[in-house]
Amino acid sequence: MPRADLVIRDCLVVAPETTFRGWVAVREGRIAAVGDGDPPPAEEAIDGGGHVLLPGRVEPHIHLGVHYPFDVDVEQTSASAVAGGTTVMMPHNRAKVSYLEVYPRWEHVVAARSYCDVVVHLQIQNRQHIDEIPLYRERFGVLCYKLHLDYRAKAVAELDIEPLDDGDAYLTMQQCARFDGLCALHCEDVEIVRYTLPAVQLSGRQDLQAWTDARPAFCEVADIHTMAYLSEVTGCRAIVLHMAAADGIDAARKWVRRPLILETLVQFLTVFPEEAGPRIGAIGKMNPPLRDRANGERLWAGLRSGAIATVGTDHISCEKNETDNLWRATAGMPGIEVALPLLLSEGVHKGRLTLQDLVRVACLNPARLYHIDDRKGSIAVGKDADLVLVDMYEERVVSPGTTFSKWKTPAHGMAVRGWPKLTIKGGRVVFRNGEIVGPPTGRILRSY
Ligand SMILES: [Zn+2]
Repeated sequence: MPRADLVIRDCLVVAPETTFRGWVAVREGRIAAVGDGDPPPAEEAIDGGGHVLLPGRVEPHIHLGVHYPFDVDVEQTSASAVAGGTTVMMPHNRAKVSYLEVYPRWEHVVAARSYCDVVVHLQIQNRQHIDEIPLYRERFGVLCYKLHLDYRAKAVAELDIEPLDDGDAYLTMQQCARFDGLCALHCEDVEIVRYTLPAVQLSGRQDLQAWTDARPAFCEVADIHTMAYLSEVTGCRAIVLHMAAADGIDAARKWVRRPLILETLVQFLTVFPEEAGPRIGAIGKMNPPLRDRANGERLWAGLRSGAIATVGTDHISCEKNETDNLWRATAGMPGIEVALPLLLSEGVHKGRLTLQDLVRVACLNPARLYHIDDRKGSIAVGKDADLVLVDMYEERVVSPGTTFSKWKTPAHGMAVRGWPKLTIKGGRVVFRNGEIVGPPTGRILRSY
């Protein structure tokens, strides 16, 4: 073969079907060849030192611009992403105006400031957004439209947001079904939470478990039943985002021929309020809430069996403290940098996932689901050379002092084993030895 631009040699390559000791050769930003034995000649060679080489993680679910200006957040979140071995991130963006107006500006900001590639999902905020879905698909290639079913009528009275209801979900699914789009759902019946939450809050509790008790699992599962049925009726592919309640696995396929697609989050697999509560307090507040360890084990099993397709973080850049008032603290948590280390530490090291499983749920499936697997999600010839070299045995106790990011995460205080040494995006090193290398090269990708 002709001379390569870059070769990463002597590593344990985790390809879609097999794992083998060998090398990966890169030309013009793409994977040109993989193999064992002697690597081809190259302009630059990186000695993998026998470490594990994975495809860059594909993060299916984050938020940008919630507590920081959008452009600042693109830069800091994408930097945290590549520091943690993530090379594609997918924000659920939100605006009140037509996305035809704001989307071009996002493309500009990402091109100027993002270290990783970006796929934008759009949040449906009003009827205009629903009507314009085919235009968003045509003009920007957007495949995925999110409905915050926790913004149903009476529950958002105090928020400056137009409420959504099941009718909006029905219409959105009809629109998405026209082009095999994906309707993404925050499933939580907040009309019930409206009663369960004040009862716990009135007790005066401040422990993290109180937040879990305030938003019971059956509220999630009730909505999953309804949405599974609507997805069946409309013929729309739909995904339950950030599923915390393991009972949702059965609910997603109970009444229908074609089950809902399921996404869970790293923190639902690895952080449990009854154990972590004293360590992380209000840092662990989010919706839906963290649940217990037995539930977490069922989610791991769902990932192994294929019942749960993907795993994300729902990352929101924000500064919170364990001592913040539980009821007044913002919901949502950072975590994009620690996602891959947590999956390696609690998943692979503890025998819950093989390296092959990890690549499937954290790279390949999200790339397939959002129609970018022609370029992303696996180590295979022709794909973008997005790669992460991992030291499986490096151990750190997670805190802002031991990570690249400045935020406290739900893993705060946990001993985590397995960290990226080096991240490559498009054939170029973007993170090495704890530091960002080179200028931002991210782009917003179109879903095919
Ligand atoms: Zn979210």
